[in-house]
Amino acid sequence: MMSKPRVAFFDFTGCEGCQLQVVNLEADLLGILDHIDIVSFREAMKEHSDNYDIAFVEGSITRRSDESRLKAIRKNTSTLIALGSCAAIGGINCLKNFFELDYVRETVYGEKATSYETYAARPLKAVVPVDYEIPGCPISRNEFIYVLKSLLLGKKPEIPNYPVCVECKLAGNVCAFERGMPCLGPITRAGCGAACIREGGACWGCRGLVDEPNTDSQREILAKYGLDLTDIFRKFRLYNGYSEVAK
Ligand code: SF4
Ligand code: SF4
Ligand code: SF4
Repeated sequence: MMSKPRVAFFDFTGCEGCQLQVVNLEADLLGILDHIDIVSFREAMKEHSDNYDIAFVEGSITRRSDESRLKAIRKNTSTLIALGSCAAIGGINCLKNFFELDYVRETVYGEKATSYETYAARPLKAVVPVDYEIPGCPISRNEFIYVLKSLLLGKKPEIPNYPVCVECKLAGNVCAFERGMPCLGPITRAGCGAACIREGGACWGCRGLVDEPNTDSQREILAKYGLDLTDIFRKFRLYNGYSEVAK
């Protein structure tokens, strides 16, 4: 009998909410465990092994010393997947990149500031090659299952590469702009089912940009509602501060 793929989970800087989404799969997870062996998952078990085939890595890289650990994971695995927006696009941790790092350290650690190492936050792909990304803050459980199943079947997982507006309009939502809220849906990667708009809010861009964001379209929509890019930059930087578009 063929041995089951060995799967490991790792985390860097993040809130661990994406790993929690995996733990919360509960009933589905039991079925998944018939097909994989989880050999490392600090949030869920004590055991650890450096022998794995698939590594899911959560969190951004925020210290120079993180790099060697990430490179060791990359060396150990044939497939590395960035789990969540901190890992895939830098995410919320990159907000600190818009401040002086000494100021950030002092704000967080006070008089102990110099005891803690830090550098500009970045996604995993800024340090090592990443095979696949599961975006979202947090990830969607269904998308995690889809990606894992695709890998087990030897297929390339396809994450949507069209904007949230597509899902939003199909769902028949009233556009956030009509409700007086700027929305990043025109340039943000779909896959969440326009979750925030469905709940009466607007998109903050947590799934990152589509590969070729139509910034002209975003500009046109902003202009239509009497807004310009400065009205949306602060919002954009919440998750996408590492992106060139935010600089
Ligand atoms: S992407 Fe969001 S939910 Fe996931 S670890 Fe980062 S902050 Fe937490
Ligand atoms: S701009 Fe936002 S609210 Fe309007 S259609 Fe696009 S995703 Fe929906
Ligand atoms: S609507 Fe935007 S902010 Fe909300 S979950 Fe989807 S991508 Fe993230």
